[in-house]
Amino acid sequence: MKRSLLVVAFLIVLGTVTGCNGYNTNEDKEVSEDTYNSKMVDIQKQTSSEIYAMDTVMNIAYYAADDKLMKNLIDKIEELEADFSVSLPTSDIYKLNMQSEVRVSEDTKELVNKAIGLCKETKGALDITLYPVIAEWGFIDDKYEVPTKDTLSNLLKYVGYKTIDVKQNTIAIPKGVQIDLGSVAKGYLGDELSSMLEAENIDSAILNLGGNIQTIGKKPDGTLWAVGIQNPTAEDYVAVVEVDNKAVITSGIYERYFKGEDGNYYCHIIDPATGMPVNNELASVTIIGESGVRCDALSTALFVMGLQEAENFWRQNKDFEAVFITKSNEIYFTKGLSNNINIIDEDLKVGVIE
Ligand code: ADP
Ligand code: MG
Repeated sequence: MKRSLLVVAFLIVLGTVTGCNGYNTNEDKEVSEDTYNSKMVDIQKQTSSEIYAMDTVMNIAYYAADDKLMKNLIDKIEELEADFSVSLPTSDIYKLNMQSEVRVSEDTKELVNKAIGLCKETKGALDITLYPVIAEWGFIDDKYEVPTKDTLSNLLKYVGYKTIDVKQNTIAIPKGVQIDLGSVAKGYLGDELSSMLEAENIDSAILNLGGNIQTIGKKPDGTLWAVGIQNPTAEDYVAVVEVDNKAVITSGIYERYFKGEDGNYYCHIIDPATGMPVNNELASVTIIGESGVRCDALSTALFVMGLQEAENFWRQNKDFEAVFITKSNEIYFTKGLSNNINIIDEDLKVGVIE
């Protein structure tokens, strides 16, 4: 039931459609010589590509004619997927979950270290050892089922990021503990790809990694990137945020969920304190900030916290902006966004968090 929601937003932003698993290099129309300086951008080329990785559709577009760079970016996506996958028997995480201690790549070590830091910072609202619980609910193999209370309390004994031991070249976890980097992997990937683009002096690019948007610089015409925020209950957008050099990452109840035999809906974000899918007033949380991995982690964690605690977390940190949409048609955004958010849906009640 996973929907690739922000792909449409990406197309709005870009105004182009990309080819499938191929690179597209479009030469924009030539401009006359006297407008050359002001229209430098018009004669640049755009390279774009759509690929399927990490269980989702990804789009990459940057303003330069450089196919080799695109190949390197796609190689990096495949390399990280091969490290982080929970289902690929050769991945670091799969082996770790089977064997309790394994040698891991630098990237795996770095992401696990960063993730542990974020688990700590969010007081366990994020917990990358929830895998046994997530699997029991059926979110890994799509065989959805509501576990019994006993099953959940047994599995929760194996949940706890503090048990992860990151050593020099290996990671160790106790028997029964299992890691899932699904809440942070795409954010980390966004940071890695952004660094690679910047290292090649690309100053205008946009990545859509399955709804995780990462922007590099501004649009080629010098204006800000416009990123749509999904309506949690329909295939359209309730708001648009304008950003440059930022990640815009959303976690929502609508991304993956199922209806249990009891008639209740269960979403794919789990409260580590109870093992239950989150069911609070929030329908979605969008985090906007410099670091993809931090925004990805916080979109999940603040969702778990609920609105009140999430607002307090923002007040204590303020190194990011946030947009919260509630199940009762309210939208709250942090005050730093005031000049850069456009609320499209006029039926939403609007609140500013200060
Ligand atoms: P998505 O990647 O689907 O856009 P998230 O970034 O919010 O959404 O990550 C959700 C994924 O993280 C879930 O599919 C699950 O694998 C895992 N997960 C669910 N709840 C938590 C949690 N509290 N802490 C860490 N990981 C979680
Ligand atoms: Mg996340």
